[in-house]
Amino acid sequence: MRCQVAIIGGGPSGLLLSQLLHRAGIDTVVLERQSRDYVLSRIRAGVLEWGTVEMLREAGVGARMDAEGFPHDGTYLACRNEGFRIDFKDLVGKQVMVYGQTEVTRDLYEARDQMDGKVIHGVEGVVIHGADTDAPHVTYTLDGTEHRLDCDWVAGCDGFHGVSRQTIPDTVLKEFKRVYPFGWLGILSETKPVSEELIYAQHSRGFALCSMRNAHLSRYYVQVPLTDKVEQWSDDAFWDELKRRIPAEAAESIETGPSIEKSIAPLRSFVAEPMKWGRLFLVGDAAHIVPPTGAKGLNLAVSDVHYLYHALVQAYQGDDHGVTHYSEQALARVWKSERFSWSMTGLLHRFPDRGDFEARMQEAELDYLQHSRVAQMSLAENYVGLPY
Ligand SMILES: Cc1cc2nc3c(=O)[nH]c(=O)nc-3n(C[C@H](O)[C@H](O)[C@H](O)COP(=O)(O)OP(=O)(O)OC[C@H]3O[C@@H](n4cnc5c(N)ncnc54)[C@H](O)[C@@H]3O)c2cc1C
Repeated sequence: MRCQVAIIGGGPSGLLLSQLLHRAGIDTVVLERQSRDYVLSRIRAGVLEWGTVEMLREAGVGARMDAEGFPHDGTYLACRNEGFRIDFKDLVGKQVMVYGQTEVTRDLYEARDQMDGKVIHGVEGVVIHGADTDAPHVTYTLDGTEHRLDCDWVAGCDGFHGVSRQTIPDTVLKEFKRVYPFGWLGILSETKPVSEELIYAQHSRGFALCSMRNAHLSRYYVQVPLTDKVEQWSDDAFWDELKRRIPAEAAESIETGPSIEKSIAPLRSFVAEPMKWGRLFLVGDAAHIVPPTGAKGLNLAVSDVHYLYHALVQAYQGDDHGVTHYSEQALARVWKSERFSWSMTGLLHRFPDRGDFEARMQEAELDYLQHSRVAQMSLAENYVGLPY
């Protein structure tokens, strides 16, 4: 088989890249290890930057998001059980959209079906060959038979544990990482969200977040030690802990109910450089991970797709500038989002290895944020997403 761009990974970044390139007349094949149902069952991100919203519209997959998503003009931060609001619209004239990653992925799969896009599920043993030559190819096994896919370029959209990053030699690749000494215990419950906007709460017992997917589906998180296991946390224990950490008014009015999903996610910051090796590009989680505190993971994947999509379109028009400089261009934005996610994590979590002085520093910073329009503008500008 032959195509112009072989895409490894059918998560949001691989599907979006495939959809945009197809609309520009560039032929792709997406190779995905899991089944479609498995990919669609993953509960992950929920907050879209406005640049992401516009990219999804540009890809022709914005209709359901525009009808069913929730534009948010601001968010709440809380400290010592009292909250204050950051008004994005007033501060920087922009919004974010609450629309789940599962829905984004579903819309992308449907759009790929409508255009007869090639997404091959259940592939095993993907190997990228000759990425540093002018004629790369990919081999994989499907139902026990080995296949070969020849291509001009390979887009590694296969997440943190994929093969693409591992294809780049150790002598070329440099990895930067920070592992945080805690995780997030998250639940999904079919209850009315406690607030119309997200509440990020800093508390001496640890961080908490009140988020949502729609008017009847809430997503809540509490910071937990990495040693905790999901089985240790009954629904009642979760709700009790959440209520202790959020503003009193929210705790009193919160609607509780059984969880329909419960999981613990570790928090880490990670960047791999460069994001291009020969004719192989790294996109999204294959190249970088952020702690979810700044709601940047999915949005960063989309901004990588933005740069790569435009670079490939230019390359097929005879201009190699974009593909040559993809790594520098993408990384400049990646590092700024890494910084924001790291600083939000530092501001809002309880670090077991830090003492009372650092706790006071966090409180002072939140107090400053509450009363300084300049500080709020900086947070808002980063939260809604820096320009591409
Ligand atoms: C538990 C969890 C919770 C998260 N919560 C949030 C959040 O609240 N907010 C936020 O902004 N971000 C969150 N994220 C991050 C966000 O979901 C990711 O940034 C986003 O999914 C990145 O998209 P991607 O397409 O680059 O990678 P992925 O979504 O990881 O997709 C990669 C795809 O490649 C496939 N694949 C992997 N290896 C191979 C292979 N060898 N061959 C073929 N296919 C392969 C995988 O099956 C997968 O479908 C969360 C992530 C996780 C893991």
